Amino acid sequence: MRIARTGVELRETLQAERISGRTIGFVPTMGALHEGHLSLVRLARAKDEAVVVSVFVNPLQFGQAEDLEAYPRDPERDFELLEGEGTDVAFLPSVDEMYPAGDCTTISVGRPLGRVLEGHDRPGHFDGVCTVVAKLFNLVEPDHAFFGQKDAQQVAVIRRMVHDLKFPIDVVVGPTVRDPDGLALSSRNCFLSPEDRTKALALSRALNAGAAELSAGGAVEVVEKVMWDLLAAGEGVEPSYARVVDRHSFEVPEGDTGMVLVVAARVGGVRLIDNVEVKS
Ligand code: AMP
Repeated sequence: MRIARTGVELRETLQAERISGRTIGFVPTMGALHEGHLSLVRLARAKDEAVVVSVFVNPLQFGQAEDLEAYPRDPERDFELLEGEGTDVAFLPSVDEMYPAGDCTTISVGRPLGRVLEGHDRPGHFDGVCTVVAKLFNLVEPDHAFFGQKDAQQVAVIRRMVHDLKFPIDVVVGPTVRDPDGLALSSRNCFLSPEDRTKALALSRALNAGAAELSAGGAVEVVEKVMWDLLAAGEGVEPSYARVVDRHSFEVPEGDTGMVLVVAARVGGVRLIDNVEVKS
């Protein structure tokens, strides 16, 4: 596995791949890797001839009061895991490399998609995500970019950006990887005490109950109430939202373009999100 720390190094490293016509699969991450990330690397490995993974904790997508400083970082372990998965190139830029002094251009994700739910609770979050992902896309120039369904709204936002800004890139989405008891894997789960980890199961329980209600013919408002009530009943769980939305627009679902049940809650001070897609 080759390691690039600057855009110039990355371009030099990837030139050989391009000259020999190999397709490039790209997995952007913030590190502290777990099976969810690695499942995306495996998808990329299966689909493309060269796999690039970035590890960059992107300050632009964290709000003032969020956990940028505390966000888990373990580059040595990340290297080992990425090497074990047959990654060709790991890209580990510094903050200065991605945001050099004088940088003043960002991407703005408008309403409704960029401003509801996660976009509402975390103002500027998706602008930060899209700005860094656009920079990474321009540096890596991948054929396919791999994202996790775990972050359903991020998937919708990235698909929208790729469409709107005409990036010649296919977005591939991998399923959410969960622990056997249903908790969706997340780098932030390491902040949960054992008791809080048990309380956090309220999110997947609420989604399962919501999906069951929906498939039994329940109306959207009823499904949302079922999920909210289950979250709110959880001791130490502070729900933020429990909604049923169109999986592309994140607005009230209309017709049968596919829905997603989304929940967010704080457990022991850790903000967690989860979702389940409902195929129609
Ligand atoms: P992050 O490092 O949290 O920015 O995540 C990097 C990528 O991994 C994103 O596309 C996430 O959606 C994806 N991801 C995170 N957790 C999971 C999971 N439990 N299952 C599948 N993909 C995930």
